[in-house]
Amino acid sequence: MFALVDCDNFFVSCERIFRPDLQNKPVVVLSGNDGCIIARSNEAKALGIAMAVPYFKVKSMSERGKVTLFSSNIMLYGDISRRVMSILQDAAPAMEVYSIDEAFLDFRGMPADFDLEAHLKSLVETVQRGIGIPISIGVAPTKTLAKLAANRAKKSTFSSSKVYIINSNRDSIREILKPTPIADVWGIGRKSQVLLRKNNIETCYDFVNRSAGWVKQAMGITGERTWRELRGEKAIDFVGESDGRQQISNSRTFSSEIYDFDILASSIANFITSCVTKLRAQNSTVGLLTVFIQTNRFKSNVEYNESRVHRFNVESDAITEIIPIATKLLKSMYRVGIGYKKGGVVFSSLADKSARQAVLFDTIDRDKQDTLMNVLDNLNSKFGNHTIISARKGFDALPIKRENLSRCYTTSWSDIIEVKC
Ligand SMILES: [Mg+2]
Repeated sequence: MFALVDCDNFFVSCERIFRPDLQNKPVVVLSGNDGCIIARSNEAKALGIAMAVPYFKVKSMSERGKVTLFSSNIMLYGDISRRVMSILQDAAPAMEVYSIDEAFLDFRGMPADFDLEAHLKSLVETVQRGIGIPISIGVAPTKTLAKLAANRAKKSTFSSSKVYIINSNRDSIREILKPTPIADVWGIGRKSQVLLRKNNIETCYDFVNRSAGWVKQAMGITGERTWRELRGEKAIDFVGESDGRQQISNSRTFSSEIYDFDILASSIANFITSCVTKLRAQNSTVGLLTVFIQTNRFKSNVEYNESRVHRFNVESDAITEIIPIATKLLKSMYRVGIGYKKGGVVFSSLADKSARQAVLFDTIDRDKQDTLMNVLDNLNSKFGNHTIISARKGFDALPIKRENLSRCYTTSWSDIIEVKC
């Protein structure tokens, strides 16, 4: 899934950080040289002030105290943008900054039990609390649909949480396309709008019901791409896609809530161990490590969903290096008194180990580390997995939730089916 994070009325929101008295009041921001309006608060929109209206038309309104005007403070907006982006960067395995106030996040390959909705709701709060900027997040299987989802996330009629998810189900995508004007779609410019209207296409639904051939002929390859994206097929790449997209992950719902840091850390170490085994089996290294923990959203009165990301300067495949980093990430988000119900790790930005580049100021002796890891691998393969384990990993002390686990019909004598005759 892709998420599009969009800052609400960004320039106005930047101004309001330092002018909290302007919350819920009409505010507009003017272009350079105070030419015309380039940003409006919702209250200014409600007053009927349109985009790109020249300054002189609103000047008297501001003199009567009806609206507050600001000249562009590009330095401020740029700096606030950088701060928002740095929080977003840590929230997902990959990010593509799209504009000063928008970024795509790539959540493809996250484990099935990763609660993306809860994660993003908490991201909305983190950015609001940490920077003071309200954001909306749209999630969908394609970037074009994620843009539409973000439009809905802004509207309280669709979402009370500022997060709106369009899932991959074909019918639910169609339901959303039915009432959506084609003019609202990313990549459909004025020229295309005129052309589409001429052909009786008003909504996205009308559009996706045309044939691929018709769309390609009328609008070319870019039009066809938009058409496919609206149907839920990914046609627009995520920038930076080629640098090893596959991921390895491991996560679990715990059988009971875990309050203890050491138990939690040992469970995270378990996840890391299993990911490293897979990683080494395919001769890869990890460039980006994500660790996440979540509370039970159906039970707890505190909802706490956090994740942290570590980018390796030198890609690694060494358990001795990765577990301490994961433990540190865990420590930075763990809170005493909170019961955690779920946890997991994701390895992304995987690369071929033979392609690993030496870094001038690398503090780790890679050859020595490799030798140690090889010894561990050999012992474990000779005497069975878990013969030698990291001290942090513990001895599977952790009860893992397996309520729906079927019997080991084929691998355990006690689970074998008995036939009475
Ligand atoms: Mg925006």
